[in-house]
Amino acid sequence: MEKANRSIHCTVTSCTNHCKSEDYCSLDSIQVGSHECNPTMDQCTDCQSFAKKN
Ligand code: SF4
Repeated sequence: MEKANRSIHCTVTSCTNHCKSEDYCSLDSIQVGSHECNPTMDQCTDCQSFAKKN
């Protein structure tokens, strides 16, 4: 079972870094950024540590 980092809540189960058994990330830290020049909403931000689960 993957380690759950209880400081990083995440529901993106299609990510290979998701802890699977619970809604947490398994990484020690993540990178968050934006695809917008001037982000104004939560939808403008991205987890840049996402990697698609195979
Ligand atoms: S890397 Fe990002 S998207 Fe993937 S499980 Fe961790 S927090 Fe979620």
